[in-house]
Amino acid sequence: MVTHVKLYNTLHREKEIFTPRTDGEVQVYTCGPTVYHDAHIGNMRAFMTADILKKTLKLAGYTVHHVMNITDVGHLTDDGDAGEDKMLVAMRREGKTAAEIAEFYTERFVTDAEVLNIDLPQGKDMPRATAYIPQQIEMVQQLEAKGYTYQTSDGVYFDTSKLKDYGKLAKLDLENLNAGERVSIGEKRNPTDFALWKLSPTNAKRDMEWDSPWGKGFPGWHIECSAMSRAIFGDVFDIHTGGIDHIPVHHTNEIAQSEVACGCEKHVNYWLHNEFVVLGQGAKMSKSSGNFLTVAGLQEKGFHPLALRYLYLQTHYRKSVKFDWDILADAQTALKRLWQRSAGVDFNTRNQTAQLSEVIQIALCDDLNTAEALAKLWDGLKQLEGAELATMLWQAEEVLSLGLANAQQMLDELAKLTAVDDVSAELQELLAQRQQARAAKDFAQADALRDKILAAGYKVVDTADGAKLERI
Ligand code: AMP
Ligand code: ZN
Repeated sequence: MVTHVKLYNTLHREKEIFTPRTDGEVQVYTCGPTVYHDAHIGNMRAFMTADILKKTLKLAGYTVHHVMNITDVGHLTDDGDAGEDKMLVAMRREGKTAAEIAEFYTERFVTDAEVLNIDLPQGKDMPRATAYIPQQIEMVQQLEAKGYTYQTSDGVYFDTSKLKDYGKLAKLDLENLNAGERVSIGEKRNPTDFALWKLSPTNAKRDMEWDSPWGKGFPGWHIECSAMSRAIFGDVFDIHTGGIDHIPVHHTNEIAQSEVACGCEKHVNYWLHNEFVVLGQGAKMSKSSGNFLTVAGLQEKGFHPLALRYLYLQTHYRKSVKFDWDILADAQTALKRLWQRSAGVDFNTRNQTAQLSEVIQIALCDDLNTAEALAKLWDGLKQLEGAELATMLWQAEEVLSLGLANAQQMLDELAKLTAVDDVSAELQELLAQRQQARAAKDFAQADALRDKILAAGYKVVDTADGAKLERI
């Protein structure tokens, strides 16, 4: 039996009852990571939102086909058509080929997702953009044949003025956008026009370039999602997810291309967008500015990755989340209490045929209200016992995925992480004293402190940013 799920559809700015195209089945497409760097914790919120959506739909009785792409070409540093391909920036930074960069960061992304209990699509449902070049070229050819493109000296562009409802997702005010535009748009005809195919420079060879009817080059960033979703799902599908930054450009352009190519009125029925994670003082996190935190970085500071999951669950996905270390510490403390309570529960006593606690199900099916679901979980912990409690925790875990069903293991993992943190705090103090001794030219004392650090299994390494500790 399928339960009603309500979702906030960005297309209509309204919460709507979700109706799939095929009874009992749902297709979900998520814009995946650009694998030129580690994903930051903000990116992971976008993927966690897709995870909660998928698990809620399953809980409601649907069979879910989830696709998440890997962007390994074409995403330029400014999200538009200027700047450099992010993969080329990474190649220069790390002295590796594009394929090596993509493989390395894809693997790290999969690990981050795993420790956050994010259930990623498998195999062909995690398509790489570079594996779909012919499909992207074919789509650009179709757009060209229908008269929606034009060529400039650096590529093939989509003429957004030809589409009467261009910008409908973002509700773009095109007249003002065009009239108020002061920056140079180069050879583009309209400021909102975007690249479908970019040509390689004539005097240099790019590491990633392919032959095309327009010359050697590479696909624009937006065309990859249009081509891959079409190749896997067909022209029309149910739900598309991503962060809110994708509304005005990436998703707006995906809609334009896909709907012209298929000649359909709507290629996606529901668009879901998560709000951003912002750092303490409202600072924006971005991979290109280097101002970002990673899951591995949290672990190094003694935090369990699921504390981040708990922190995100506390806020509805359409509200922004403030991140700072104190908030994370509070989330970890609450989660630890949840684990302590769950560790004593005998899950063998659970009722395997019972429906999920109605209140939790209602909260999740109401536009993925995880904050409310968590509150109901805490209520249940106070009110229920024995088999009832075991049943509720087990079922809530199917969507919340907080490690409740193996709570003792989670507590052990946390103990290990915090133990490392204690040792390093002490060592950091020794290191600071050694630096002071050196600055005071007390080399005997500095050496004695260094030996103490060595005895604890660490060596002091002097770097451009100051002295650091490394495990021997
Ligand atoms: P990218 O790897 O840059 O293509 O981004 C992957 C996903 O993360 C996209 O859905 C973005 O919209 C989303 N995203 C980027 N920054 C943040 C942030 N600070 N908070 C939440 N989501 C974000
Ligand atoms: Zn996309």
